[in-house]
Amino acid sequence: MSIFSHPDFDGHEAVHAFCDTESGLRAFIAVHNTNRGPASGGTRFWTYASDGDALADVLRLSRAMSYKNAMAQLDIGGGKAVILRPEGAFDRNALFAAYGRSVETIGGTYITAEDVGVSPADMAVIKTQTDNVAGLSEGDNASGDPSPVTAEGVFRGIRVAAERAYGSPDLNGRRVAIQGLGSVGYALAEHLAHVGADLQVADIDTSRLARAEKELGATIVDTNDILSADVDILAPCALGGAINSDSLPAIRASIVAGAANNQLRTPDMAEALTARGILYAPDYVINAGGIINVAAEVAGRYDVAWVQTKLDQLEETLGEVFDRAASEGRTTASIANEMAQERMAVIRDWR
Ligand code: NAD
Repeated sequence: MSIFSHPDFDGHEAVHAFCDTESGLRAFIAVHNTNRGPASGGTRFWTYASDGDALADVLRLSRAMSYKNAMAQLDIGGGKAVILRPEGAFDRNALFAAYGRSVETIGGTYITAEDVGVSPADMAVIKTQTDNVAGLSEGDNASGDPSPVTAEGVFRGIRVAAERAYGSPDLNGRRVAIQGLGSVGYALAEHLAHVGADLQVADIDTSRLARAEKELGATIVDTNDILSADVDILAPCALGGAINSDSLPAIRASIVAGAANNQLRTPDMAEALTARGILYAPDYVINAGGIINVAAEVAGRYDVAWVQTKLDQLEETLGEVFDRAASEGRTTASIANEMAQERMAVIRDWR
């Protein structure tokens, strides 16, 4: 397994590997870029087939955080962590405490929050070992679970995309497929149902599906069919890589706009979507709501009004990406990358 020549290394400032034999902790923390501030991004707790898969995941996620945080013009850099779920029984509190000690050793160059598989209770355990943690439920400036704010940002972004694609942001009667009804996907479904969208949903967790059917009137779709559902808008809200050479030809939506990180399995999917006339909302632009919420906590001044202003800015930035892509005949991903790289080059004196 290589690091510096890894295809996803992309100039990372640091990649840390942590092991604690007593608790079973095995984790990577990747710090991609700290020009704008301490690297901030969530910790993912997931079962990986190999530590090579975990490393690839953390590198891709970490780089995406640099782009996301710069694009949202936040005073934080990009980083991410993954904890490899131990095989067999383990003591969850001991594991997350060991992880908290790991975060502490890197001296504030990385500030963690939640990602897939990590709960507010886990965050509280991490907090017992380090102050370099945000997205907490309690305490001074606690911003809480970022997922509802992510969902609000995605919902607002879908309206911007609909405005460009259909001439109106009104989602009443629009057919939307949601892949993944987790913390973000379910909250997004609630927003959409509230404005009269017609929902099709899929999740590997059937309990969430039953709830969406009962409470939101959603239609349940098999996980194998959700990406090809006959809808206007496809919202990937599960894990990365939903848009790939297998799924792309079958997509029937004219907009792809969802919460999942790294939705395009390979960069050439951006051209492939454009070639098919599908408007793609770059994932790290539309899903920045949660990190905006976290950044408010990191800044030590959690302020709901400031978060709302940043969500307004998210809409404006996404609109600019769509408009520039249309006028310059380029993909939305390439415009977003260019804008993010410009913003990432701004060095702030924060240490
Ligand atoms: P979550 O773990 O709460 O939800 C993920 C859901 O996807 C789960 O319900 C899971 O059962 C489902 N799922 C997994 N594989 C699936 C499949 N093949 N088909 C259908 N459903 C499947 O996670 P979350 O916090 O809601 O995050 C969802 C996505 O959004 C992730 O990619 C995450 O990185 C990204 N994201 C989350 C936030 C946030 O604030 N939580 C912020 C930005 C980006």
